[in-house]
Amino acid sequence: MTLTGTKQSTEHYRPWSNWAGNITSTPAITVTPCTDDDAVAAVRDARSRGIGVRVCGSSLSFSPLVATGGMLLDLRHLTGITGVDRDRQRVRVRAGTVIRDFAAELWTHGFSLANQGMIWNQTVGGAVGTSTHGTGRTLCGMSSMVTWVRLIDGRGEIVEIGEDEPDRLHAVQTALGVMGIFLEVEMAVVPAFYAEEKFRFEAWESAERNWLTNIDAHRNLSVMWLQSNAAAEAYSVPVPPGMSLANQVLHFAIDAIDPLPESEWCQDIGARRGPAYGVLSGENIVDTFCELEYMVPFDDGLEAVQRVQELLLGKHADQLHPMFIRFIKADEAWMSPFYQRDTVTVSVAGHPGADYWPFFTDVDQILREYDARAHWGKLHLFDRDYLARVYPRHGDFVRLRKEMDPDGMFLNDHTRRLFG
Ligand SMILES: Cc1cc2nc3c(=O)[nH]c(=O)nc-3n(C[C@H](O)[C@H](O)[C@H](O)COP(=O)(O)OP(=O)(O)OC[C@H]3O[C@@H](n4cnc5c(N)ncnc54)[C@H](O)[C@@H]3O)c2cc1C
Repeated sequence: MTLTGTKQSTEHYRPWSNWAGNITSTPAITVTPCTDDDAVAAVRDARSRGIGVRVCGSSLSFSPLVATGGMLLDLRHLTGITGVDRDRQRVRVRAGTVIRDFAAELWTHGFSLANQGMIWNQTVGGAVGTSTHGTGRTLCGMSSMVTWVRLIDGRGEIVEIGEDEPDRLHAVQTALGVMGIFLEVEMAVVPAFYAEEKFRFEAWESAERNWLTNIDAHRNLSVMWLQSNAAAEAYSVPVPPGMSLANQVLHFAIDAIDPLPESEWCQDIGARRGPAYGVLSGENIVDTFCELEYMVPFDDGLEAVQRVQELLLGKHADQLHPMFIRFIKADEAWMSPFYQRDTVTVSVAGHPGADYWPFFTDVDQILREYDARAHWGKLHLFDRDYLARVYPRHGDFVRLRKEMDPDGMFLNDHTRRLFG
C-alpha cells in the first residue's frame, strides 16, 4: 500500500536493497519525509508503535547498516545548502543532499570540499555516517569536516551539537546512524580550487621502492595494484594494447592547478581537469562488487599491502578484483577508522554471488595483526571486543549513544551487536 499525502510518502513492506544487492530487508514502513517536522513525526510514530528506525542515504553501503524490519527513513527530499558563512568557511547542508549536488552548489558559492570519495553518489548523511574518505596523506576523511549537526534523538527531540561540545561532536562525526537522524550538517570547506588527474602505470618492484616518494608527490594519490589484466578489467581499467598489467600498479594522481576556462575542462577518465569536485569524484560507473576495506597505521601500510599481495598471488589467486590503496590523515572522530592515526587503507573486493568470504576472512586475519580498523560502510568481521581494543573511544561512544537513544530506537541487529 502506498499513501502519498501532501507532506510525505509512507509505504508498507516495500523491499529494500543496498547497491551491491548483498543486503536486503523489508521495512514494515518506509517514510520519505518532505520536511524536518515530517521526520520528527515519523520518529515519534515509530516510538509509539514500538519499532526501530534506520535512516538511509543512497544505500551504497555494503555492510548491513541500513537493514531493518522496522521503519526506514529515506531523506531524499531533505536536500540543499541552507547557509554559507564565508568568513568561517562553513556551510550548512541538509543531510539528504547527494555529494554531487552539494559539491556543485558549493562551487557556485566559491567553495570546495577539501576531499571526496571516488564516487559522489553518497548523501551527506551517509558519507559522514561512515567516515567516507578520498585519499591524500595530508587530508582527512569527510567526518572530520563536520563542525555542527542538528539531529533527531531517540526521544524524538531535536538536538544540536557543535564545536562548543567537542566530545559530543567527535562522537557524532562518525555515528553510523546510531546517535540519531541527522537533518542538517555544517561542514568546514575550503576556497574553490581546480584540479587535474593523471594516470600512470609503474611496475610493483619500482612502486615499492618509491612508496613514500610517490605518496608525497601528489595532493591525492590512489594506488591500484593489479595481479592480472583480468583484475584491471574488473574495475573497468583500460588495458593498454599488448601490455601485461600483472604486478603493475596504476597510480591515480590528482593535483590542484590554476583556474581553467570552462572550454578546457575535461571529464575523460584519466585526464579529468576542471572544478575539483568533478575530478576528485565521479559518477559510479563500475559493475557491482562487494568490498572490504581495512585501515592500518601509515607506517605498517607497505608491509600490510605486501601480505595481501601474497594472498592474491597464492592461496586466493582465483580472486579477480585488484587491491586498492589510499592514504588518509588522522582525525578526532571517536569511531572514525582514522581516529588519531595516519592511515593506509587496503581494500579488496569480490563479485556478488561468488564466495569471497574465505579470501576476506584471510585478509581480516592478516590485517588484524596491524590493529586494522574498518570502513563502516564496507564488509568487515569485527565484533565488539575487537572494537573495544582498536577504537580507544568505543566505550565512550556506547555511553553517549545510550544517552542520545536510551531505548535503542536507532539500533538494528548489526549495530546492536557492535554498539548496543
Ligand atoms: C561503488 C562504490 C564506491 C565507493 N567509494 C568509496 C570511496 O571512494 N570512499 C569511501 O570512503 N567509501 C566509498 N564507498 C562507500 C560509501 O561511501 C559509504 O558506504 C557511504 O556511507 C554511502 O553513503 P550513502 O549515502 O549511500 O549511505 P547509506 O549506505 O545509505 O548509509 C550509510 C550509513 O549512514 C547512515 N546515515 C545515512 N543518512 C543519515 C542521516 N541523515 N542521519 C544519520 N545517519 C545517516 C545510515 O544509517 C548508515 O548507517 C563506496 C561505495 C560504493 C558502492
